[in-house]
Amino acid sequence: MTETINIIGAGIGGLTTALILKQRGLNVNIFESSAEIKPVGAGIILANNAMQVFQKLGIQANIENAGNKISFMKITDSQLKSLSVVSLSEYEQKYNVSNIAIHRGELQKILANEIGFDNINLSKRLSKIEKAELFKLTFEDNSTFESRLVIGADGIKSVVRNQLFEKGTLRYPNQICWRGICEINLLQKYQNELNEAWGKGKRFGFVKISAKKVYWYALANSKNLEPSTVNLIEFFSEFHSDILNIISATKTEQIVVSDIIDLKPIDKWQDENVCLIGDAAHATTPNLGQGACQAIEDAYVLGKLLDSGLEIQNTFAEYENLRRKKAHTIVNTSWTVGKMAHIENKFGIWLRNFAMKNMPKSANKKQLDMIFNLN
Ligand SMILES: Cc1cc2nc3c(=O)[nH]c(=O)nc-3n(C[C@H](O)[C@H](O)[C@H](O)COP(=O)(O)OP(=O)(O)OC[C@H]3O[C@@H](n4cnc5c(N)ncnc54)[C@H](O)[C@@H]3O)c2cc1C
Repeated sequence: MTETINIIGAGIGGLTTALILKQRGLNVNIFESSAEIKPVGAGIILANNAMQVFQKLGIQANIENAGNKISFMKITDSQLKSLSVVSLSEYEQKYNVSNIAIHRGELQKILANEIGFDNINLSKRLSKIEKAELFKLTFEDNSTFESRLVIGADGIKSVVRNQLFEKGTLRYPNQICWRGICEINLLQKYQNELNEAWGKGKRFGFVKISAKKVYWYALANSKNLEPSTVNLIEFFSEFHSDILNIISATKTEQIVVSDIIDLKPIDKWQDENVCLIGDAAHATTPNLGQGACQAIEDAYVLGKLLDSGLEIQNTFAEYENLRRKKAHTIVNTSWTVGKMAHIENKFGIWLRNFAMKNMPKSANKKQLDMIFNLN
């Protein structure tokens, strides 16, 4: 009988891993703490590297149909005047896929449908994992389960990591983040681009995710800021009116607020018969929009190793080896970009904006080549 691989967590990382293993004939079983596959009320950008993986999985068209193609990424000042414009057409041609902005719920639905809901156990929060001959999994409802192979895809505060590996250090860059979705007729010029406007210690990004919907995110330095008292229209009043219109069109219940956190890079993601993937292994700040894309790449590499003839338990060490350098480069670069985006000092802002405007194209290209090239 084919052995079952038990995955903790049905986020984008756990779901993609389950699909990749299932497509290779392995049995998968997911334990998810939530009572439903509940998306954070937000969108997500699946960059070219993630879409290459979904192309190989045969779900590229489903994702494209449910989302919106993004061909330009723009960093602007608070008045939406460009500081940096990156065209993605070179990569669209090279890899035959585009960056896609999509509602997280739509993406999770596509993945869960492919895996089959029978393989996803909801309301199962792992509280303890113990290693004996097999792993003993204990859930918050006191049920237990034994498993020889476990994948921890349980996010930045991973129980699997905390109990079997180094706990790791969660780092707080002292930035608060609001995310929202609204219905608004976006001007034609914004249809296929991501715009991120940088102001003084704050920024605002927006992107179209479907025919009617726009996803936006806003970040600000959190020192001396009580998020529940912030009126976003007033807070972003010096920003362009197109941004203020997006905020105005968003219902309060469509806004989620969270702290920004990452995991200081840890070297060990696997041990005999257990491995960590996605945020559990290498959570990053969102400044490069690569957290989920890196989780998707993790899953892809596991699949590639299986295709080379390895048994699943023999893939974990090689997976860690292949993935660590790129994932950690993303974590570290993203941390630096976040600091730069939130400068408050007037001269610092001028200098940053000057540097952004005059950045050689080759610098952006080098970074995108690295990010979009699958391991
Ligand atoms: C503001 C913001 C914007 C972002 N934008 C982008 C973007 O545009 N592109 C991109 O690629 N990435 C983006 N990211 C990053 C991305 O959201 C994460 O990297 C990605 O969701 C990680 O997926 P994951 O499956 O590893 O973890 P998670 O999404 O955290 O999923 C973990 C799952 O495990 C479950 N779980 C947790 N604990 C337990 C437990 N004890 N037992 C059982 N189940 C458990 C959770 O309920 C959850 O379903 C962004 C992040 C933020 C904060």
